[in-house]
Amino acid sequence: MTRLYNDPAAFSDDMLTGFADAHRQYVRKVAGGVVRATPPPPGKTVVIVGGGAGHYPAFCGFVGPGFADGAVVGNVFTSPSAAQVESVARAAATSGGVLLLSGNYTGDTINFDIARNALCADGIETVYLTVTDDVASAPPQEHARRRGVAGGFVVFKVAAAAADGGAPLAEVARVATHANAMTRTIGVAFDGCTLPGDSTPLFTVPAGRMGIGLGIHGEPGVDEMAVPTAAELAELLVDRLLDNAPVSGTGRVAVVLNGFGGVKYEELFVVWSSVAVRLRSLGLEVVDPEIGELVTSLDMAGCSLTLSWLDDELEALWSSAADTPAFRRGGAVLESTRASGAHQSEHDRAEVVEPVRPTAEPDRYATAVVEALSRVVDTLEDIAPELGRLDAVAGDGDHGRGMTRGAAAALTAAQRAAAVGDNAGATLIAAGDAWAARAGGTSGVLWGAGLAAAGRSLADVSEPNPAHWVSAVRVAYEEVRRLGKATPGDKTMLDALAPFVDAVDAELAADAHWQTAWSKASDAAKDAARATADLRPRVGRARPLAERSIGTPDPGAVSLAACMRAAMPAADSIDGER
Ligand code: ADP
Ligand code: MG
Repeated sequence: MTRLYNDPAAFSDDMLTGFADAHRQYVRKVAGGVVRATPPPPGKTVVIVGGGAGHYPAFCGFVGPGFADGAVVGNVFTSPSAAQVESVARAAATSGGVLLLSGNYTGDTINFDIARNALCADGIETVYLTVTDDVASAPPQEHARRRGVAGGFVVFKVAAAAADGGAPLAEVARVATHANAMTRTIGVAFDGCTLPGDSTPLFTVPAGRMGIGLGIHGEPGVDEMAVPTAAELAELLVDRLLDNAPVSGTGRVAVVLNGFGGVKYEELFVVWSSVAVRLRSLGLEVVDPEIGELVTSLDMAGCSLTLSWLDDELEALWSSAADTPAFRRGGAVLESTRASGAHQSEHDRAEVVEPVRPTAEPDRYATAVVEALSRVVDTLEDIAPELGRLDAVAGDGDHGRGMTRGAAAALTAAQRAAAVGDNAGATLIAAGDAWAARAGGTSGVLWGAGLAAAGRSLADVSEPNPAHWVSAVRVAYEEVRRLGKATPGDKTMLDALAPFVDAVDAELAADAHWQTAWSKASDAAKDAARATADLRPRVGRARPLAERSIGTPDPGAVSLAACMRAAMPAADSIDGER
């Protein structure tokens, strides 16, 4: 249970405010996360780690000398937006370039990729790499598709140590890639975790049972068994990892026995006593083990074991000194790089939202966009709990919240744009950008990019007719395909959007009135969304739990169909028969 919060939607930001205040000698809060309180020396390769909140001390707890230069912090269990990633990277960047690191989740990869491209386009050399250590999430031959879990701690540490040692960006990236290739994690849990504001956990494990191979966002386990003894658990974890050991592994391993938030340190030490014996009996030398909470999953009761096979280079980097709010290693506190006096960032001040003041006669088509978004927000508020339930079956349960947050931000931005006289295209662009920036996550970045692309296609159209609107929806569809790299049939929102686009085109070609066409296309999208229940997810967070997802429709397809229905323009807002 997560009991202490104010506004659940502000949990991540409120947490970060308290964290940055408490650790002002280490970090400075900036839009989207934190950076070191003391700027890096000129030319230093900057390492930025990130992901959603709910994992403390990952990721902001690892910012400081010997470790990360900055951390991007999204909403709870939600990828940060591209704007947040870019903001943190810019706040920390030097002429030495930036290495961005996150776990391998679709929402993270799309958002970090967009940020990387924007930074590169602006002359800031940037490399983005993902951690793929979770052996439960894909077979060995698909290592690159695995999720990133607690092994990220090892990968982040060695990459950051290389950067602090003066290595150039390409070297730091090579080290991170190498460390990731040598790192394996498996996790178990005895009980689920509860998002702030929710009264029920994202998933549950039956009493006396243990889920094996869980994600760190409440993604349910891939397997289940009776709760073993600590010694039996140690054996199970070690053996699963050794079954998955890298071919070129040496006899030395960095080890992380990580608590997810709901087991005691004492319990972890009991497990560790057997893990250590087993590893040594198998001839492995344990190097600087870490036992404790390093990558948590809110209050999830469970733990994971990470082994990272070391060579001389990795070992030196793993063992080198670090001094951060949540992790210290080595006697020497790196005073010279600690802040002498902390200063408040301008971003610490609460965001001031100016009321909308109309300064121009609103464009009637922009008004139609605002009205459509307003209906979308109402619809999403109604169905958010259901979307959350659908997403919790094989994902992380945040889809309802993410969609509602994104749509509400889009509506506010659209209202502002319309109030200053922007046309429909510019209004949609503002809405899309706000959606992506505020929602985060996979659906957030894709919806945001889709709306913005639709807006760009209408940018020069002063009086869009039905054909323009339909073509804008197709542009959005193509943009979602391009960014998400999914195709219809992969069990995503595309499975509702593709039939919508096809149906509306076919209806218009058959001379239907545009409103009839839109309505029939919405029906087609709804039927198609329902039919995704039969599909196996081939991309996204639900992929590792494909079997579990069968029988449940894709949350993104369901929300898309509902939004398209709600967005149908009112009859008097659009002229023209077709
Ligand atoms: P996250 O998976 O980051 O938690 P959400 O829960 O908000 O994000 O959204 C999940 C939905 O995103 C899925 O139900 C699916 O429809 C959609 N989705 C996931 N991956 C892709 C992709 N590669 N392309 C298009 N849509 C995707
Ligand atoms: Mg989700």
